[in-house]
Amino acid sequence: MKICVLVKEVPDAAVEKRIDPSTGRMDRSGEKNLNPYDTHAIEAAMQIREGGVVSVEEIVAVTMGPESAVRALHKAVSLGADRSVHLSDQALAGSDVAATGYALAKAIDRESPDLVLLGQQSDDGECYTIGAVVAEHLGMPSLTQVIKMDVESDALRCERQAEYGYDTVQIQLPAVISVGDAINEPRYPSLKAIMGAKKKPLDTVASGDVGIDTSKVGGDNSAAQWIAAKAPPAKAAGEIIEDEDTAETVEKIVAWLDERKLI
Ligand SMILES: Cc1cc2nc3c(=O)[nH]c(=O)nc-3n(C[C@H](O)[C@H](O)[C@H](O)COP(=O)(O)OP(=O)(O)OC[C@H]3O[C@@H](n4cnc5c(N)ncnc54)[C@H](O)[C@@H]3O)c2cc1C
Repeated sequence: MKICVLVKEVPDAAVEKRIDPSTGRMDRSGEKNLNPYDTHAIEAAMQIREGGVVSVEEIVAVTMGPESAVRALHKAVSLGADRSVHLSDQALAGSDVAATGYALAKAIDRESPDLVLLGQQSDDGECYTIGAVVAEHLGMPSLTQVIKMDVESDALRCERQAEYGYDTVQIQLPAVISVGDAINEPRYPSLKAIMGAKKKPLDTVASGDVGIDTSKVGGDNSAAQWIAAKAPPAKAAGEIIEDEDTAETVEKIVAWLDERKLI
């Protein structure tokens, strides 16, 4: 079995997310990291390999992003991927979710994987949709929010988390699966793996190398266009009730809750 895992470089969780008003794109300056949701996808690939039901010949980390995104690939490799593919091209900058999914599908198609794994959401765009778009272009079935996966030779038996409970679904391979963050506890990379990550094969490809039609990608060719962004309203100051007389304080709290129909 060959598994492709989609990974994305995102602004670090501690960095305030902003839109650059001059470009209408995400401001990607500052600290960046591997999207934490993608570490669950890598771990899921590793657990399939280590589970021994099928033999996993290769785990390939795939990203689309600027030059700096290579660090997300190194992290993915330190967590267990065997090699990585970096799709990087100025023509792809500013792509919306449909264009990003199309471009990623082209890069994945060249790898002919049996299974494509991805995180449930990116920590920046939070579209939750790339999996479905990629699956559509690859002509593969797709499942989202998978929190349990059992390999059955050429199929997967999955449990997916839904608002009403859990679905158990059998899906034929090849397939695209986006995993929920409840699926596993990602491992920490060892120092040796971190040091060795840069030595693992990395294939940097441009649009032309994977057959991307550049009239379908990039900010200008994307159907979704950024129009405006507003800062969230400032939070009103809270009301502090000093506890001098407990009975009186309780009364004040109950009245406050009652006024707002919270009790
Ligand atoms: C207003 C706005 C401005 C934006 N500006 C920019 C910009 O300037 N430059 C830019 O790069 N993006 C920008 N984006 C984000 C870009 O549109 C999204 O990256 C893209 O649409 C994918 O959506 P998502 O990241 O929310 O994916 P989701 O569907 O939330 O992600 C699910 C999973 O898909 C995989 N995935 C997603 N993206 C990638 C990727 N690139 N490579 C590999 N795997 C991936 C990951 O496994 C991830 O866990 C912007 C988004 C918004 C809302």
